[in-house]
Amino acid sequence: MPGMADEPQIRIIRSGRRQKTVSARLTDGGAVLEVLAPAGAKDEELAPLIEKLKDRLLARSNRAAGPDDQSLARRAAELNRQYFGGKLHWREIRYVANQNHRFGSCTPATGAIRISDRLAPLPGWVRDYVLVHELAHLLEANHGPRFWKLVNRYAKTERARGYLMALGLEGEADEGARQQDASGDDADDVDDVEQG
Ligand SMILES: [Zn+2]
Repeated sequence: MPGMADEPQIRIIRSGRRQKTVSARLTDGGAVLEVLAPAGAKDEELAPLIEKLKDRLLARSNRAAGPDDQSLARRAAELNRQYFGGKLHWREIRYVANQNHRFGSCTPATGAIRISDRLAPLPGWVRDYVLVHELAHLLEANHGPRFWKLVNRYAKTERARGYLMALGLEGEADEGARQQDASGDDADDVDDVEQG
């Protein structure tokens, strides 16, 4: 999927109340670059400005990302507010290195969420999907219709699933929420849908 991974979609919002300044911010986990522009600004005038703002913001967000559990936890808290009314609670969320065929796991009974560190370098909007996915497991253990209804409130879900599928991280390798009776083996005893 060339070009799809890291180029944010541009959304220009023109406002008569803004006089001369053009400003921009990344939203939707980095998937959208929202540009605030004066009402009379022409596209061709804006283009070079947008390019400059985009480079600056992407550089900043790339520095902010990385395999950093604290930023992961902060992002999860933001997504909790945005998609779950801030109602979800968990004990810890962190990156792990041992999830060979999974992008993450959730153990509702202990409130532990694990995210594969292979997601760390992926675009923010893909990581956000995985976080929303694992957060939704705090409410719905299985991948049933109610689960997907929750997850699909994140608008980039289908795109992110396609992205992960291309990497071999989504599809048959998807997990369900992990049961409490973890048998000592690490991530590989995630319940998986086929259990039982
Ligand atoms: Zn799942």
